[in-house]
Parts: sequence; C-alpha cells; structure tokens
Amino acid sequence: MRTELYIDGQWTRPLKGGTFPIVNPATEEVVHHGPLGTAEDVELAVRAARRAFDQGPWPKMPGTERAKYLRAIGAGIRDRLQELARLETIDNGKPLPEAEWDIADAAGCFDFYADLAEGLDKKPEEAITLADGRFVSKAVKEPVGVAAAIIPWNFPLLMAAWKVAPALAAGCTMVLKPAELTSLTALELGAIAQAADLPPGVLNIVTGAGSVAGQAMVDHPDVDKLAFTGSGPVGSRIMQAAARDIKRVSLELGGKSPFIVFDDSDIDAAVEWVMFGIFWNQGEVCSATSRVLVQEGIYDRFMDRLVEETKKIKIGDGQEPGVLLGPMVSEKQMNQVLAAIENARTDGAKVTVGGGRPAGFNKGYYVEPTVLTDVPLDSDAWKEEIFGPVVCVRAFKSEDEAVALANDSRFGLAAAVMSKDDARADRVAAALRAGIVWINCSQPTFTEAPWGGYKQSGIGRELGRWGLENYLETKQITRFVSEEPWGWYIK
Ligand code: NAD
Repeated sequence: MRTELYIDGQWTRPLKGGTFPIVNPATEEVVHHGPLGTAEDVELAVRAARRAFDQGPWPKMPGTERAKYLRAIGAGIRDRLQELARLETIDNGKPLPEAEWDIADAAGCFDFYADLAEGLDKKPEEAITLADGRFVSKAVKEPVGVAAAIIPWNFPLLMAAWKVAPALAAGCTMVLKPAELTSLTALELGAIAQAADLPPGVLNIVTGAGSVAGQAMVDHPDVDKLAFTGSGPVGSRIMQAAARDIKRVSLELGGKSPFIVFDDSDIDAAVEWVMFGIFWNQGEVCSATSRVLVQEGIYDRFMDRLVEETKKIKIGDGQEPGVLLGPMVSEKQMNQVLAAIENARTDGAKVTVGGGRPAGFNKGYYVEPTVLTDVPLDSDAWKEEIFGPVVCVRAFKSEDEAVALANDSRFGLAAAVMSKDDARADRVAAALRAGIVWINCSQPTFTEAPWGGYKQSGIGRELGRWGLENYLETKQITRFVSEEPWGWYIK
C-alpha cells in the first residue's frame, strides 16, 4: 500500500505531508494511511500534465504507439489481478469475486481503447463534401488537452479505467483523483503505468479530499476537460465551475432506475435479475434497478420468491468464500442507508424483509438486503437514490401505467424490462427515458456499448467509441482551391 502520490512519473510525498486513514469496512480496522494530496500537489500534477501535453510526445504520437502503452497497462493490471482485487475488497467491502470481475474489466477497458487508439491512425481524417467547389474541407480529431478525472468509491479501479483509458487513447494527458474512501488501487495504477514506461506527466494520480484536491482540479485554469462520476450535487457544482472558463465536462451521476416485470415472465428469472439489479455491489451502483414494478398477475408469487431468496443471501466480509453481500463502504454510508429505511417506514412503507443491521456482527458496516413495499410515490424512498441494498417493489396493471411510473423521475440513467413478448419489450424499451435499457436482464455492462444518463443522471456518454469522443476535439481544415481570385476587395 502506497504512501506517495504519482506526479510527473515520480512518487512524491504530499507537499503538506498529510495522510488519511484507510478503513476496511468489514472490520472497521485502519489498514493503512494514504497520502493526502492538497491544492499544492494538484498544482504540480496539472503543471506536469500540461507540460506533457504541450511539449511532450504523447498527443503527437501515432495512436498505434499509444496503443502499446495502453496494452502494457492492461497487461500490468491483469498480471496483478488477484492482488488488486483483494485491495479493492479491503478498501470498498465488495465480495472478492465481484472485485475480480471489476479488475478484469478494467484491464479489458485498456485493451479496448488500445484498439480505438489504433483506429485513429486508420481514419485520421474525414473528407467533407462542400456545395461550394472553390473549397475542399476535411475534419480531423485531436485530443482535448489536459483532462481531470474525479471518480467515486463504488467501482474504484474500473471507474478509473473508464476515464484514463479513453483519455490516453485520444492523446490527452490526465490528473486522476480517486474517492478518498477508496484510493488503494488508483495508486497501484500509477505503479502499473510507471512499469509500462508511460512518459512522465501523461498520467498523474493525486489522492485526497474532494473539497480540497478535487475542487483544486475543477478550478484549475490549465485543465481543459473535467470528467466526473459521483453524486448529483457535486456534479452540479462541477458543471457550474466548468462554466466559468468553458471547460469541457462530462458527468455520470446517480439514478433511481426502474425495472418493469410483465406477468408473462418466468418468475425465477425475474427474481434473479431483480436481486442482481439491487443487491450486487451492496446496491452501491449508480444504475441499480431500485424501483421494481411487477404486473399484478404475478405480483404475489414474485414477492414470495423474492422474500425467500433475499433471506438466503450470505452477508459477510467480502474476502470470505460464498459471501454475496459485503459491508457498506463506510459508516457514513451505512448510516445514510439505515436512515433512508427509517424514513421510508415513517412515510408509510412496509419493510417486507431486512430493514436494519444484520444480527451476529460485532464489527463492520453491514446493512441487510431490504425489500420495501407500499412505498408512497411521493416519498424519498421511491424518488431518491438510496445507494444501498434497498429495493422498492410495487404492482401495476397496464403497460401504459408501468411506463408512466417508470418515467416519473428526475433521473434517467438506466431501466430494465422483462417479458417473453419481444414486441412489447421493444415497445417499452423505446418508451423508457433512460440512457441504458436492459431487456430480460439488469446491470450487465459492456466496454463496447455507450454508458450514461438522460435527465439529471448526467451529460455525455462513456465507454465504446462514445467514450473516446469525450476526449477529442473536432477540427475543420478548409483549403481554397479555386483558380479564380476571391475578388471581394480586389476586383
Ligand atoms: P461524491 O459526489 O461525493 O464523490 C465523488 C467524487 O467527487 C469523489 O472523488 C470526491 O472526492 C469528489 N468530490 C467531492 N466533492 C468535490 C468537489 N467539491 N470538487 C471536486 N470533487 C469533489 O459521490 P460518492 O459518494 O463518491 O459516490 C456516490 C454517488 O455517485 C451516487 O450518487 C451514485 O449514483 C454516483 N455514481 C454514479 C455513477 C455513474 O456512472 N453514473 C457511478 C458511480 C457512482
């Protein structure tokens, strides 16, 4: 576990010498003291990234060359998969197999964007057909410049990969700040980049508080682009700060995503995906399908199976084999989730299963997997993100009613629909106002496919070729080719 920041290709102690405790949420033990970066460290990191962009080889290098570094980083992650997964579990609390999944996906993300970096060489420009034959025009893609990435704690290394890989593929340089609750694997990414001989300053990693180090990145005039994943309120503040000097900004924010289950669905399949949609990663998932709408014909049978299976979920330290639900990431998060359940009760919701801290744990920030029913439509439990293993379930009669309930939200990140009738599922998918719609499943995420939200769930798309576009500017180059003079002033 590292005690230094990664700036300009070097490991450096925070200039103010601060540290912060890193707590294992399963045991409440302080396992390490991480380096607490401040605005002064951010200044060095942005300067290094600026130098690497303005004077270094990185943005001018052919994409094929950059791809080699990206592949080396992907391979470096894969070589250390078990170790990184264990760090992720200690830091975040998630079950080890889920952490292994994340780390493998992070490695795959670097491979994917290596391919796209090569693609930039194959299609370096696009000819534009102009109606006016006196000119020929083309469009070229260029890197945006220095990007600052600020990420949350729920998928620590994976969220870093979603931003670092496309930014570097595009030719940008970057300053990355992980969430203060989960800094361990981001710092290891620095070591992996260093081992891959990434030129100095191309990737800089500063750990520290959002309000200090994060804010300094957001406010820095030499940063060209802000890429943020996290909560809506912080996203809004970042967008306002970006407006000051017209920084490019992409935001991936929260959600309260619906899952519509029609009564022709297989009940076990529906229960399986509904559970996966809210209980994997302890429900600390921006796209969690936390509002479940079940058609009345199967509602009672569905609920019986959901309650039966939810009670069987093995809760515990993510490092223990067979555990399917780890602790919340922090005491604060646990208390927020417990408070949200209490508020739901006060507002009239019924706690059908779960609802508190599980019995038999002396330590750890655990919350039981919880199913709420009779949740009033105007209550916070129905409308606001809980970011924990808490699902609201409600019956509906008609397709129109389900779509209207699903879309009645200020969020629009994801949605899911289950039905054996493909035409109906397609119709509903088209009607749902969300950036990601799953049919007959919930949550599978693919590096190749666009990811991002409608409405207050964010701006822009990550992953796939859309993720690369986030870090590219489009330049028009137009040439005057006429034999005739322009003849405006000089006749
Ligand atoms: P958060 O917004 O508090 O923190 C996210 C990051 O922002 C952290 O790195 C934090 O240090 C930093 N930050 C905080 N204040 C800042 C400031 N003033 N200036 C700059 N940076 C600042 O959110 P969180 O608690 O880490 O994550 C949970 C939230 O993130 C949930 O609401 C969830 O829905 C959302 N989320 C969204 C996605 C997505 O893809 N859309 C993914 C994961 C999490």
